[in-house]
Amino acid sequence: FPKEDFQALFHADLLGATIPRDAGGLGLGIQGRNTFPLWMMTKLMAKADLSLARCWEGHANSLVLIDALGTPEQKRRWFEGVLERGEIWVAWSGEPSAPKPGEKARFGTTVTAAPDGWYVTGSKVFATSASRANRAILLVSTEGPGGARHNQGNPEALLMLACDLSDPTITVDTSWWDPVGMRATGSHLVRFERTFVPRDCLIGRPGSYLLDQWQTAFVPHYAASFLGAAEAAYDYAVTYVRHQNKGSDPYIQHRIASMAVHIDSGHLWLHHVAGLWDRGRRADAALAGTKVRHLVEHWAEDTVHHCIRACGARSLIRPSPIERILRDLTFYLRHDNDDHILATIGRAVLGEQHDVSFYKP
Ligand SMILES: Cc1cc2nc3c(=O)[nH]c(=O)nc-3n(C[C@H](O)[C@H](O)[C@H](O)COP(=O)(O)OP(=O)(O)OC[C@H]3O[C@@H](n4cnc5c(N)ncnc54)[C@H](O)[C@@H]3O)c2cc1C
Repeated sequence: FPKEDFQALFHADLLGATIPRDAGGLGLGIQGRNTFPLWMMTKLMAKADLSLARCWEGHANSLVLIDALGTPEQKRRWFEGVLERGEIWVAWSGEPSAPKPGEKARFGTTVTAAPDGWYVTGSKVFATSASRANRAILLVSTEGPGGARHNQGNPEALLMLACDLSDPTITVDTSWWDPVGMRATGSHLVRFERTFVPRDCLIGRPGSYLLDQWQTAFVPHYAASFLGAAEAAYDYAVTYVRHQNKGSDPYIQHRIASMAVHIDSGHLWLHHVAGLWDRGRRADAALAGTKVRHLVEHWAEDTVHHCIRACGARSLIRPSPIERILRDLTFYLRHDNDDHILATIGRAVLGEQHDVSFYKP
């Protein structure tokens, strides 16, 4: 986990970027109608380290949800923790239901109502920042496993429970997370054994995450991170080929040009989508966000491959950043399925029913 980076963000007064200004934050993001600067901040972090960007996205997005849906008392309590004590947040859905071949463990939570709150039992995976975050928004359903992403049942049963991760009923299993890239997100398997979450930690009304399509506010944030990876590869390639005096080679020129056009296009698209959010055009922003998610995934991958082709084998020998970017980006993109994203855009154009949050087929 990028602990020092988060400490640096705290000491630079950036940890509350998505907390409103009148509460002591910077007022960035869709709530503050100041979205593009947030995405550019995330892009810069991703340019340095995609794992940092993922942990940061989880934190910043969680604060957006609290700002939009929290009670005044919740905002006071939780924003103070971030601004004064450097508390780190994250949001966990992470309950994939279809096992992979050979996978014996089943992931998922059950939620039982109590007079003054809820008990959560079971497990989640892909629990980013698990070893360091102070609080997680648990996306859990009273109808059983699935979280938000794999929710099969009634959307109104999905709760957002702000969970204090110091609770001794919560354990982190660090053996599950052994990925090809993005290792530093520490997106571990987390177990809950009758973890009690008090009623005053319910964020928003039941169902609001799915019914109000909150995921669509965070989809372009992924694209901002992908763009950061692309920009890092682009900068590396330009420096590399200049250093080797290959600038007069027409193939190199083509590759550098393609990279430059992808990066400019990514910025323009993100700026466009941010503007839609800032002008309150939520439905248009949601669909345009799906498009930018699709486009930047391809532009970023393509940019990294242009970099590798232009620079050659030594660009992939450690400690080259390209070796890490290739692994991290390949894995980071797996949040969503681009085939289904594109199909979702097609369905929208054709007037068919479509899911702009999780692109369910
Ligand atoms: C680095 C990283 C960090 C993450 N951090 C978080 C986090 O902080 N919080 C969080 O909640 N989650 C997090 N996730 C999880 C992420 O949001 C996805 O849930 C996860 O990547 C999906 O894993 P999967 O592809 O194995 O699972 P699956 O959901 O099983 O999907 C496998 C594939 O099957 C496809 N598919 C699903 N249903 C069908 C169908 N009916 N027909 C055809 N195809 C289908 C999917 O689209 C996908 O391509 C993180 C993931 C990564 C990679």
